[in-house]
Amino acid sequence: MKTATKKTVTCPTCRKPVIWSAKSRWRPFCSKRCRLIDLGEWLSEEKRIPGDRTHGSDN
Ligand SMILES: [Zn+2]
Repeated sequence: MKTATKKTVTCPTCRKPVIWSAKSRWRPFCSKRCRLIDLGEWLSEEKRIPGDRTHGSDN
C-alpha cells in the first residue's frame, strides 16, 4: 500500500519549498521564473570564462 507522503524539495533560487509531483512542472524550482534566473546565472558563469570573447553573435 502506498502512502501519500508529500515529498518536497527546496527551490534553489528562492529557497521556497516545492512539492515534488508531476504538477510541479518547474521542479526543483518553484516556478518558471526561478528556473530562468538560475539558468541565467549559469550562463553568466559561462561568459566569465577567459579567452572566450568571440563575436559569434554577429551573424
Ligand atoms: Zn523559487
